Amino acid sequence: MERKVGFIGLGIMGKPMSLNLMKAGHTLTVFDLNQEAVNSLVKAGAAAAASPKEVAEKSDVIITMLPASQHVKQVVTGENGILEGAKDGSVIIDMSSITPEVSKELAAKAAKKGVGMLDAPVSGGEPKAIDGTLAIMVGGKEDVFESVQSVLYGMGKDVTLVGENGCGVTAKLANQIIVNLNIAAMSEALVLAAKAGINVEKMYRAIRSGLAGSAVLDVKVPMILDRNFVAGGSIAINMKDITNVMDTAHEIGVPLPLSSQLLEIFHALKVDGKIKDDHGSIVRYYEKLANVEVKRV
Ligand code: NAD
Repeated sequence: MERKVGFIGLGIMGKPMSLNLMKAGHTLTVFDLNQEAVNSLVKAGAAAAASPKEVAEKSDVIITMLPASQHVKQVVTGENGILEGAKDGSVIIDMSSITPEVSKELAAKAAKKGVGMLDAPVSGGEPKAIDGTLAIMVGGKEDVFESVQSVLYGMGKDVTLVGENGCGVTAKLANQIIVNLNIAAMSEALVLAAKAGINVEKMYRAIRSGLAGSAVLDVKVPMILDRNFVAGGSIAINMKDITNVMDTAHEIGVPLPLSSQLLEIFHALKVDGKIKDDHGSIVRYYEKLANVEVKRV
């Protein structure tokens, strides 16, 4: 079913996601603070709006893909925000990775205006945003979820309703623990192998189909061997997520000893000037400790 979709936040993820929605036949109205990002979508056939309010006025389904909680709050409830323009019965899908607390608060405010809301963060990074195969974890009411299936499947392959509002972003926090601790564990192993003098590329080939194999290993080892730290998922974004993980965990009484160490590693990388680099840069923290570089021989 073709829908009138609004898209706010046309960055690394939002731009390819909105292009895929147009390919799927949806009509798009877009907004971003970055005019260049808007222009590239207009060239591809989208209409530009002057504010999130105008996006909402012209759309039935409004998607946000913004950096963090404060941006989503501003765009949804701020002056000239989505809730000032949204029609009764329209649906907001926030696909940003934000805190469960803010997500639930925004859904309650939207409901008061007769507007449905889903939290629907994603995993898979820029490559899966481009080929439209993101994993999408959703929180919200089942009927609202059912009503926007054609939009969600325009951007993702595995789309799962996890539970009520806030459940999607909570699943994303859990996802971020697994992904980033995986990169840290892999980094310890790679640095050990490099300093021991074995061929790291051969070791990777030897272990990748065993129990140590993972999507993280297959994506990040080749990047590290190429010394390619250009961000898909930056240290900044992942540090924001692990900060949200720790805040949420402490609030509900869950100690996370490994995630707390990971957060310190992110802070060390920030001080070291690597905040904009890919989170594969975690390996460079370990390389400094051991005074060795993981590279092709
Ligand atoms: P990004 O910084 O590349 O893009 C964010 C966009 O939002 C920018 O174009 C910016 O101009 C725009 N923006 C910021 N404030 C705005 C406002 N008030 N009004 C309108 N536009 C505004 O970020 P990204 O990498 O695309 O990530 C977006 C979200 O997706 C984040 O929550 C991130 O954690 C999550 N995410 C990112 C990745 C990844 O690999 N990059 C993977 C999964 C999830």
